[in-house]
Amino acid sequence: MPELPEVEVVCRELSEMIPKNKVITKWNFFRKDLRFKIPQKKLQGLLGQPISAVRRRAKYILFELRDHLIISHLGMTGSWRKARNKADQMKHDHLSFELSDGSHFIFNDPRRFGFVEVIEKEKLAQRFSGLGVEPLEDKTDFALLTKRFRSLKAPIKTALMNQKLIVGVGNIYASEILFASRVSPLKMAGRLPADRYGLIWKHTREILTKAITKGGSTIENYKSATGEAGGFQTEFFVYGREHELCRICHNPIKMKVMAGRSTFWCPSCQK
Ligand SMILES: [Zn+2]
Repeated sequence: MPELPEVEVVCRELSEMIPKNKVITKWNFFRKDLRFKIPQKKLQGLLGQPISAVRRRAKYILFELRDHLIISHLGMTGSWRKARNKADQMKHDHLSFELSDGSHFIFNDPRRFGFVEVIEKEKLAQRFSGLGVEPLEDKTDFALLTKRFRSLKAPIKTALMNQKLIVGVGNIYASEILFASRVSPLKMAGRLPADRYGLIWKHTREILTKAITKGGSTIENYKSATGEAGGFQTEFFVYGREHELCRICHNPIKMKVMAGRSTFWCPSCQK
């Protein structure tokens, strides 16, 4: 499932690929619903407008129009791509839009957990009021975040993945961040001293930033908007490495299912 780095890469690429001075001339819908019903009428209402920017909030892609935003979520297997030619249609393509220069952007999603939604710009804060802080934003108050985490009765790994507290960290990066911080994923968030959190936030920022520069991680089928696989998966220390040897201490990596998700860690490096 795409996490913050993968969605950020897609946003940056779409932002480069979509010409800002061209308007949407056509929508094509190949089915009625994804995770939610496709808002065909609302999307049709945006014809004639240019997309002025593509940016990310949490794991959502935001296409900016005049007074509206198209919100797109990739779910488990969603992807956007620029069509190579008119006949470029693939299995699991669900909708697409065309611009006045003839360029054509397609949303594909085999498992259909992704979605597309239209909101008025002024409703953005309200729409995302339940979301936690952005780990890569300078204005994020990490002291306050530490306070919140220290009041929790949950394992640190589960807390790190709680999108109401901090956004964009999913199963892969939570395991990697905790390894880099030498903190066991089983440790209760409320029992970690404040200075450990300093380390956790530092590694959160470093790992997410590095993953973005590597084009994200491709575990099963993630592809960026240019069709590239990510490269960060070759740098994992623990994720997906059960029974393999820790790159630091050479003891075997362990795996345990926590809150329904596979969790990987090195019991000798992480306490
Ligand atoms: Zn180790």
